[in-house]
Amino acid sequence: MSAGRIIGYIAAAIMLFFGVIYMLGSGSAGATPGWFWIGLVLTLVGLGLVFLASRKPASTSQSSTSLNIDIPGSVKMDTLKCQSCGGTIGPENVKMIAGAPVVTCPYCQTTYQLTEEPKW
Ligand SMILES: [Zn+2]
Repeated sequence: MSAGRIIGYIAAAIMLFFGVIYMLGSGSAGATPGWFWIGLVLTLVGLGLVFLASRKPASTSQSSTSLNIDIPGSVKMDTLKCQSCGGTIGPENVKMIAGAPVVTCPYCQTTYQLTEEPKW
């Protein structure tokens, strides 16, 4: 249940409560006749809120799960070069395999594990 629906139900319950109190109070001696109408309006608004809160579809707040590839900060991607052919390797050639960044050379298809301090 979303927070908006809970607030709606609470507000409806308060309005229904006071609505009934006003309508009951209007029957007592010395009460203003207008109380009945105030109570009636409050009850109707309360019922309307219950209706709105019950028919409103539950807001599905699906948190967007974005997979961020965490590459160690000391690795400068623009300076990576292939060990075999010397080709430039960009960030798009790094894939996370079993939690470790693995570089695949786009030129010679050589794959190697990306360490935090590359020796090349
Ligand atoms: Zn290569």
